[in-house]
Amino acid sequence: MAEPDEPGKKRSRVVELTEKMMVDGVTCEWAGRWNHITKFLERPGPFTHPDFEASTQSLKFLLETCKILVIGAGGLGCELLKDLALSGFRNIHVVDMDTIDVSNLNRQFLFRPKDVGQPKAKVASDYINSRVPGCCVVPHFKKIQDLDETFYRQFHIVVCGLDSIVARRWMNGMLLSLLVYEDGIINPGSIIPLIDGGTEGFKGNARVILPGMTACIDCTLELYPPQINFPMCTIATMPRLPEHCIEYVRMLLWPKETPFGDGVALDGDDPEHIQWVYQRSLERAAEFNITGVTYRLTQGVVKRIIPAVASTNAVIAAACATEVFKIASSAYVPLNNYMVFNDVDGLYTYTFEAEQKENCSACSQIPLDLHFSPSSKLQEVLDYLTESASLQMKSPAITATVKGKNKTLYLQSVASIEQRTRPNLSKTLKELELTDGQEVAVADVTTPQTMLFRLCFTS
Ligand SMILES: [Zn+2]
Repeated sequence: MAEPDEPGKKRSRVVELTEKMMVDGVTCEWAGRWNHITKFLERPGPFTHPDFEASTQSLKFLLETCKILVIGAGGLGCELLKDLALSGFRNIHVVDMDTIDVSNLNRQFLFRPKDVGQPKAKVASDYINSRVPGCCVVPHFKKIQDLDETFYRQFHIVVCGLDSIVARRWMNGMLLSLLVYEDGIINPGSIIPLIDGGTEGFKGNARVILPGMTACIDCTLELYPPQINFPMCTIATMPRLPEHCIEYVRMLLWPKETPFGDGVALDGDDPEHIQWVYQRSLERAAEFNITGVTYRLTQGVVKRIIPAVASTNAVIAAACATEVFKIASSAYVPLNNYMVFNDVDGLYTYTFEAEQKENCSACSQIPLDLHFSPSSKLQEVLDYLTESASLQMKSPAITATVKGKNKTLYLQSVASIEQRTRPNLSKTLKELELTDGQEVAVADVTTPQTMLFRLCFTS
């Protein structure tokens, strides 16, 4: 027969533990706190790195020296911060430009209803700092683009938990720009590993990027499908899905009927707007015997909402945090280099080695060639930069040296310059006095660096 619980004994154990924490209040340590971590760092095992040497220094490095940057404090970010803090990382910075929305609360578990409207980075940091003794998370309520090279250079490892491909590419470009080349060879000290996690519904991926050494984000750009867009002919003439009907109303009816006045843009957060789109979509769907148009779906399509699944975030963040631990401790061989996860139907994971693209526009160091006829218009060059699967630029600004002078051929982001340079789009390259073999510089939001292209005239 089992002995009955002795409440007195139990309580004294709790008191004992609390006392230990109190005693070591300065260092925030208590006996056995890192037992689980030291098992990985202080004894060899079948999966340890071939060069592994058991050492107590690894834990010291994780606790005291290693500096981690987490990009994003959303679904993946909350998980990442918790995983890293509990794995012994104490010097963590987190960058996020967003504030907390009530719809985040179901999965971004560091946030509470009272936090709605507050910066995610700040609230997440405060939560971790108060909950994990000794951990110091520093928040940055900013865009990644507002921080400079000096800031990024201070980290040992960068982990991304982002939902934007543009931000990912920018971060990738930033870490590539920090590489120091000596006689064409990368100085290994200048490499900051990038661990990138991504999720979409029940699918996710985790990857390890050693900038300049292994496939970067832009090397595998073809893997990212362009934003889900339906062919216009389907939307306009032969809809089959409820989404097609909603897109029809969003793209064609809204600008035509201007239900809320001329020039009023469709606002996905305005219930009246969504209601209007919803009603018109129902009519459209009825016309084609399509079912499934709901208010919720309407808002989902208008706002391009991808349903977020908390468990997918947890899996991917855990995989990413594990990679951070492996690289920071050198105790295990890191993922090589791309893991996909999918539990839409059953559960599937697969790991493969994404290869570095020889002529990658971001990491190859080789200026790319642009092949155009002298009679091509600048608009065609612009279209190529935005539509090519391997470039997928968003709003490229094109400059070139013409007759010894630096000239902006087209720039979209500043209205006055856009207006001034717009006529250039309908001019031919010859009319713009560009010559065969000349360099053309392109700046875009997808990269912090200006990209150089070589113009090659085709006959
Ligand atoms: Zn690359």
